[in-house]
Amino acid sequence: MPEGDTVLSVANRLHEVLGGHSLTRVDLRWPSVSVDAFNRGVVHDVDAYAKHLFVRFASGVSLHTHLRMDGVWRVVPTGSREAQASSPTVRAVLATSEWTCVGYELGMMDIVPTARERDLIAHLGPDILADQCVPTHLLDQARADPARFLAPRRAHTSLLVSDRDWIEALSRFAAQPQTRPIGETLLDQSVVSGIGTIFMAEGLFTHRISPMRPLADTPLVPLLASIRGHLIRGVVRPVAGRRIHVHSRRGQPCMRCGTPIARRLVGPPTAQRPAFYCPTCQHR
Ligand SMILES: [Zn+2]
Repeated sequence: MPEGDTVLSVANRLHEVLGGHSLTRVDLRWPSVSVDAFNRGVVHDVDAYAKHLFVRFASGVSLHTHLRMDGVWRVVPTGSREAQASSPTVRAVLATSEWTCVGYELGMMDIVPTARERDLIAHLGPDILADQCVPTHLLDQARADPARFLAPRRAHTSLLVSDRDWIEALSRFAAQPQTRPIGETLLDQSVVSGIGTIFMAEGLFTHRISPMRPLADTPLVPLLASIRGHLIRGVVRPVAGRRIHVHSRRGQPCMRCGTPIARRLVGPPTAQRPAFYCPTCQHR
């Protein structure tokens, strides 16, 4: 499943080619969405909140989509073969005279007034990739080493505007049962949003924390700061080109101690997800 860094990268790419441009083609293949109700016009900007993508129009409406498990957006030259978007898995086509953005296997689609985007994401915790989602006492470090902490987002009005969001995230962790395992809590999008199985696993490995460790014993601030760092680096360089230490490496030797990487399921019975970890480095 795409994580917050993937969705933010998609938003940045779509913004590059659509932002400020008038659309020449809008094709939305979704039963409950009518293009007629949609004043296509000029795209104001494209932004992401956790795993949700918003294409905002100057007319004051937003196209909301979600990648779910298998969704992907591709940007191809208008007039090219792929821009014809003839695949049955295509759900959305947004084109300018120069570029065509094709959304495949999208898992969600709505058109809403931009002012009401919040309604669609009200169930989510603060976005770990939000511009200001940096804990106050780490701000000095962030200023000294901005690449590590500050997301390379574009300068535009974000959905989140203050580091109150970071405090909000920590308070949501504090409101959880303190016996709850950290692995499943990191994946709970109502606590903090934008983290998936890859960076849950990588963040816990970095700090030598078992996915089963209770919240009460988990150093949350450094853990969240480093997961945010992993995700931000993911925006700069996609996961495919990066070294992954534990995720999907079951049975292969730990890069730190050589112990075979293990995998277990975390989360409630109806929504279990895999967690990869080193049983030696992350024994508790
Ligand atoms: Zn190890």
